[in-house]
Amino acid sequence: EIPLSPRVKRIKPSPSMVARMRAQELKAQGHDIIDLTVGEPDFDTPAHIQAAATAAMAAGETRYTPVNGTPRLRKAIAAKLARENGVTYGLDQITVGTGAKQVLFNALAATLGEGDEVIVPAPFWVSYPDMVLACDGTPVIVACGENSGFKLTAEALEQAITPKTRWLILNTPSNPTGAFYSATEMKALTDVLMRHPHVALMTDDIYEHIRFDGGEPVSPVAIEPRLAGRTLLVNGVSKTYAMTGFRIGYGAGPKPLIGAINVIQSQTTSGAASMSMAAAAAALEGDQSFVAEARTAYRARRDRAVELLNGIDGITCQTPDGAFYVYPSVAGLIGRKRADGRELKTDFDVALFFLEEAGVAVLDGAAYGLSPYLRLSIATSLSDIEEACTRLKRASQALN
Ligand code: PLP
Repeated sequence: EIPLSPRVKRIKPSPSMVARMRAQELKAQGHDIIDLTVGEPDFDTPAHIQAAATAAMAAGETRYTPVNGTPRLRKAIAAKLARENGVTYGLDQITVGTGAKQVLFNALAATLGEGDEVIVPAPFWVSYPDMVLACDGTPVIVACGENSGFKLTAEALEQAITPKTRWLILNTPSNPTGAFYSATEMKALTDVLMRHPHVALMTDDIYEHIRFDGGEPVSPVAIEPRLAGRTLLVNGVSKTYAMTGFRIGYGAGPKPLIGAINVIQSQTTSGAASMSMAAAAAALEGDQSFVAEARTAYRARRDRAVELLNGIDGITCQTPDGAFYVYPSVAGLIGRKRADGRELKTDFDVALFFLEEAGVAVLDGAAYGLSPYLRLSIATSLSDIEEACTRLKRASQALN
């Protein structure tokens, strides 16, 4: 048997991917399952973006690419960041990776050593703590409860910072809660960071266009330009343009950091896929009407999901500002008993109960670092959301 590394033993597979596989397995066995674990848009990639990928291949763009991304794509990213986020980056301050996920990982791999701490507000996207662990760092999880809108406060940030802190990771709007930091809330956090020059900021803006209150995206560097030298802005095309399979994400930040990320990438995957980069450039440069259409659809689903969930005894659900998830509390179901007498002790038990008794696959809040909650994806049809909530209600009513 080949021994495994301490690195891989420290981490686990992404719980959302595991749950999704489990739901698909049950479906394949003939069970009627509504899968609300999915973290990707249910829309097709817009036709003009697909066409750009095909055209690129026909034009011979099928070879190795520059490690940091094609100049055309980096130009499109720089233009997007200036246009939408009010921040200016040169082409040598931008790197393209195989998804935002790779950019985040590369950045941690390029900067963390043993014992270095990374502040991760909870609930968090499941990959952050494991990425930190994989890169020999220590995740410092800061619980951000419902009463602060699931958001990190300036006081909590201040308390979490130690001399070993290297990064704060902020995801806004957030997966799983949809929480979005307003300009005022962001300023309160950047003010704290200004007092701690050894702490860098990683912002994951992947859901920036899936926002429901109409306001502009809020980039910390636009709010506090003095942080530009220690901020890595991470974004991608997966969620905004329904391009999850293209695997294109990007980072913008100070040149030395971007250079180090490029070194890691050059020794792992090399440059991202040529046709995907052409498609991503077309997405950023082209007609943006899909973005607004998708947002309108997500808003209708969010409103319906929140309404129906709040109509279930034992469940309460805040209205998320963005992203395509809802994160209801199931505190009122904990302690209740299934027909066979088994008690629902944790949100994992609740998620399993809903899978087995309601045929609805959801994720437990424990996977996201804050219990007792569930994460339900609304990146699925309105009729599926309605049917799922009807089933959850029926199943909950059968609890003792
Ligand atoms: N960041 C967050 C918060 C996410 O939820 C996801 C996908 O689930 C990603 C990053 C990964 O995005 P990409 O497809 O660009 O790797």
